This record gives sequence, C-alpha cells and structure tokens, in this order.
Amino acid sequence: MSNALLPVFQPASMLFDHGEGAWLTTANGERYLDFGAGIAVNALGYSHPHLIGALERQGRKLWHLSNVYRISETERLAERLTAACFADVAFFANSGAEANECAIKIARRHHDAHGHPDRWRIITFEGAFHGRTLATMAAGGNRKYLDGFGPSVDGFDQCPLGDIEAVRACIGPETAAIMIEPIQGESGIRSVSHSFLRQLRALCDERGLLLIFDEIQCGIARTGYLFAHQESSVVPDIMSLAKGLGGGFPIGACLATRNAAFGMTPGAHGSTFGGNPLAGAVANAVLDIVMDDPLLAEIRHKGALLRELLQDVAGRYPDFIVEVRGRGLMLGIKTTLPSQEIVEALRARAKVLTIAAGDNVTRVLPPLIVTDEEIRLFAERCNEVFPSLSKRAAKET
Ligand SMILES: *Cc1c(COP(=O)(O)O)cnc(C)c1O
Repeated sequence: MSNALLPVFQPASMLFDHGEGAWLTTANGERYLDFGAGIAVNALGYSHPHLIGALERQGRKLWHLSNVYRISETERLAERLTAACFADVAFFANSGAEANECAIKIARRHHDAHGHPDRWRIITFEGAFHGRTLATMAAGGNRKYLDGFGPSVDGFDQCPLGDIEAVRACIGPETAAIMIEPIQGESGIRSVSHSFLRQLRALCDERGLLLIFDEIQCGIARTGYLFAHQESSVVPDIMSLAKGLGGGFPIGACLATRNAAFGMTPGAHGSTFGGNPLAGAVANAVLDIVMDDPLLAEIRHKGALLRELLQDVAGRYPDFIVEVRGRGLMLGIKTTLPSQEIVEALRARAKVLTIAAGDNVTRVLPPLIVTDEEIRLFAERCNEVFPSLSKRAAKET
C-alpha cells in the first residue's frame, strides 16, 4: 500500500483494474469472484450498462448543481423513494454516516419543535454500527472505534438486542427515538426478529418516540425486499440508506414521514454535494432495476439457493462452521476461526472475495445480479478451501 495514504486501512495486496458483473480483474488478468460487492455497495455488480449509460448521459449535461437550485434528478429520486415506502420526504447526503446524522438531527428537532427540547437522547443496540463520524460512532457504542478520540458524543443509550424489557427500562424523560438496523451487518449478520421490531414500534407509539431504521446495508433489495423492514409489517418514522443506493456512486439518503420531519425547516440541515445531479442520475438508474417485482422475487430465490448450498457446505464441516445466517443475499457464515482467516483463505486459495464481520462471521454479499451458476461456483470454491481450515480449527481446539 502507498505510504502516502493515512494507514487506517490494511488492504489486500492485489490491485484490481476493472470489473464486470460479479467479477473483478487485476492488471495482470487474474479474475476474482466477488461475493462481497464492496460491502453491499456494488449492488448491480461492476460495469452495469444501465448505470454507465446514466452516468455518461448526466456527465455530459451537468455534474454538479448547488442545492440553492432545483435538481430534477434528485427531485425524481425523492419522489420514487418516498412512493415506495412509508416516507414522505427525503434528504440526500454522500455517505451512510451522514444519512444517520440527518436521522439523528430529525429526531431531536422533532421533539424540540413540539416544545420538548429536553427530549434528545436516542436508544441504540449492542452490536450496532451506524458510521464513523463523532455522533454515529457514539450511536454504535463500539469501544474499539471510540477509544482515543476524547469524550464520546452524548445522547445515546445502548440496550441488548432483542430484549424489549431492557429497552422499556432504558426509556427516560429525555428519550427521543430508538434506532436499529433491521439486520446488523458489521457485527456479524444478526437478524432482528419481526416480533422485536413490532414490539419496538408499539413501544415508540406508546411513549411518543420516533423509530429509526438504519437500512444502509440491508436496504435496496439486499434481502429480496426493496427495504428489509418491508418483509415485516413494521414501518419506521425515519430510515437511512446509502451503500447499494448508488450502486457504487457515493450517495446516502435519509427518509422520513412529514410528521417526523416536523421541525426541519429551511436552514435546519444541509450538504454541499449531497444529492447532486450525478448522484441523482445514477441512483435513479439503480432504482430502474431494483424496483422491479420479478427481480426482487429472483433475489429471494437466489438467496434461498445460496443459503441451501452454504448449509450443505456447513454440514460437511460441523467442527468449524457454527451456522449460516441472514436473509436474502445478506448471509453470514459463523465459524470457530476468526473471520479474517476465512476471508484470506478464500481470497488467496480460491480467488473468491467475501467480507469479514464481527462474531467470527464471514459476510457473503454477492451483487444482486449474481447468477445461479456463480452461486454454485462460490459453494464449490468454499468446498475446496474449507478442508484445510477445518484441519486448522481442529488443531486450535
Ligand atoms: C456502512 C454502514 C454505515 C456507514 O456508512 P458510511 O457510508 O461508511 O458512512 C452505517 N450504518 C450501517 C448499517 C452500515 O452498514
């Protein structure tokens, strides 16, 4: 890695040059099967012609327009996103963390504008990941990310995931909202049960709190539903999106009901780049493809196939694979070895890319356009690499 980069990442050594579909190719022609999709960002894989077309067309018209002017691509994007879910309004940012910052600000302003400036705290959950800005790190509450950066931003109270009585006990006179990922990504593909989401919704209604879903990783058709929460009957008041929304073009969004966003008046929030014409055009092109019922059904079918094959692989190595979990094409393989070892072995020995997560879980997040054949190839390559890992796991115990 170049010494000129701030050494906060430890990238793998190969250097990719181009990609197509679910495949990435290095400068010297080595092909890798990418079942990490840039951490669920490259939702439509690489070099998707519809996305390239949208980017090129918009690139010749207008790259950037300030938010002091109307931006037609972004207006259209807001209308399509809000028409597809519970929300009435959308704000666009450049990243997931910024989308969550907006969600936090909307929740605090809501209560302030209703005469309760004292209600500003937000309940979050153990294992949460909401981003790396000062506020979103505090929301996630992970010591590993917070340590060494001075006092953590105040206003977040953390509860165990799935324990409704703990949440109830955590609510105080200052509580404004509850924020949760319907499927936790970074901490190891931990699905939240629909019944827990329902209980949270009821609790929010009972206590006048706003419910925020962070769908930055699990949204945009990843689970076979346009938004993960749509598989349950539970709707939030606010939802953040990013990762898959631009298919690789940086864009984040915060959606809210008009009621939740009460208090967000002109000047209350802003972003220079957020929702510029290029981002708007590409995200609209992503929606052209993922807002399609047959495709969503296909993603559910592919997710079921991938899970079945991985379950089969897991059955052969019960000594080192603990379980396969997740929904749709957002799956995780929990092992007895650190996930970094699994990810490295798959990459180095089988040219297959996956993403490490917490709790010894290897994330399997192929692009949504992955084929059944590629899914079978992935399972085959796991079967090639896992016997030696199984031996390693046996040595450790
Ligand atoms: C990736 C992620 C974020 C942060 O997004 P950035 O674009 O890195 O700021 C927030 N929440 C969840 C659930 C994520 O997966």
